Amino acid sequence: MDIHCTDRELFIFKKISHVAAGLNLPCYLIGGFVRDKIIGRPTKDADIVCLGDGIALAHKVAERFNPAPTVAFFKNFGTAQIKIADFEIEFVGARKESYRTESRNPEVEPGTLEDDQNRRDFTINAMAISLNQEGFGQLVDPFNGLRDIAAGIIQTPLEPLQTFSDDPLRMMRAIRFATQLKFTITDKTFQAIKDNAERIRIISQERITDELNKIMLAETPSIGWDLLSKSGLLQIIFPQMMALHGAEYIDGKGHKDNFYHTLQVIDNICNNTKDLWLRWAALLHDIGKPPTKRFEEGHGWTFHGHEAVGARMVPKIFAKLKLPQNEKMKLVQKLVELHLRPISLTKENITDSAVRRLLFEAGEDIDGLMMLCEADITSKNKFKVRRYLQNFELVKQRMKEVEEKDSLRNWQPPITGDMIMDTFGLTPGRNVGLIKDAIREAILDGIIPNDFEAARTYMLQKAAALGLLPKE
Ligand code: ATP
Repeated sequence: MDIHCTDRELFIFKKISHVAAGLNLPCYLIGGFVRDKIIGRPTKDADIVCLGDGIALAHKVAERFNPAPTVAFFKNFGTAQIKIADFEIEFVGARKESYRTESRNPEVEPGTLEDDQNRRDFTINAMAISLNQEGFGQLVDPFNGLRDIAAGIIQTPLEPLQTFSDDPLRMMRAIRFATQLKFTITDKTFQAIKDNAERIRIISQERITDELNKIMLAETPSIGWDLLSKSGLLQIIFPQMMALHGAEYIDGKGHKDNFYHTLQVIDNICNNTKDLWLRWAALLHDIGKPPTKRFEEGHGWTFHGHEAVGARMVPKIFAKLKLPQNEKMKLVQKLVELHLRPISLTKENITDSAVRRLLFEAGEDIDGLMMLCEADITSKNKFKVRRYLQNFELVKQRMKEVEEKDSLRNWQPPITGDMIMDTFGLTPGRNVGLIKDAIREAILDGIIPNDFEAARTYMLQKAAALGLLPKE
């Protein structure tokens, strides 16, 4: 084998080779599996292309395992898949594709291995390994993918303008692979992406967002976002993000470029978490800055209220990008809304009540919020960064103390609405809300301690002020 496989993989491939020989079907490992093995990345699935009926081959191979795995058949793609333990193997017949301009779905007909390699998107994705009895394990690399892996470059096997025009999703894939592998897209290939950027409009949002999420889960997502911006794709698929670009100067006063600041924040948070949604929160934390940007005489640039405006933009952006409209979106929204709070605590005397309020509002997302806030410190001035980080540690320490004392994480006030209704014989209504809020605020402000007796006494006082008496 020209690649290093595990014993189990080799056992499976030999079996496939044997079955294919019996059917007189030449077959090859192809695409991502070959690429990742050569690079030394982990692999979880393998694609096998055969010169003939891939579905029949899949069934015959499945029969040779005990117990025989079920064969999943995907009619639309003409592929069949079997799963052995957690290893997925997909079979497909070699094909030749030709495209029409209005769609990314090509006309497909059976083809040779060469035809099949020609339709692949990048040289590094077009390599095949023979599973034939003769030449078992040999690399078939017509476009010198091996050289491109060694050089760390991404380019199309054929004319890039045509490749991207045929299937514009490939532009997103090029940028995604450049991000995941930290490879460079060649000038010619990148120029072709710029020239075809408009064609991304024929791709479904789900597929685009799939690629965006893969970029977000890479080690250094900034690579991908920067390439999306430079290629012209970002302006089309996510204009609000593009609007973060640029540093304006008036009277010699400038502000930092919020696009590059955001890219640094996303990379920073990636050093501490693999959570996709915390990463989206980092990406969107300043999204409200462009619409709130003002120049104030004698003061300079301001972005008042950008956190609230940004939080309101989150559901719309999630809807447009077809990201979920569930609690994940709510988390991102909350973190965008609160992202200035921990650091603003350090600018005043840190009171227990301010810390308590933040703990209450952030709830169980406080750790994510602190992580975002820390990632947001990107000044080039080392002294500033050190001072910020020291202040930040102070806030964390105070939070720990208040949390130990008051256990505010997932906290609910000791008196519930039901208890209030019960005590005063009320039905749900305004007074119940007023009393409940007053108790919560009094505890958060430290006017009364966080315990049942104090809260009950306070409830009686508040109710009396509203002219309410406990029922007998
Ligand atoms: P990953 O698993 O990280 O997404 P992959 O390369 O395995 O990477 P798949 O989407 O599973 O990605 O595709 C498998 C192979 O099919 C690719 O390596 C490539 O050869 C080919 N391929 C996938 N999508 C396209 C496309 N849009 N145009 C041309 N070839 C493609």
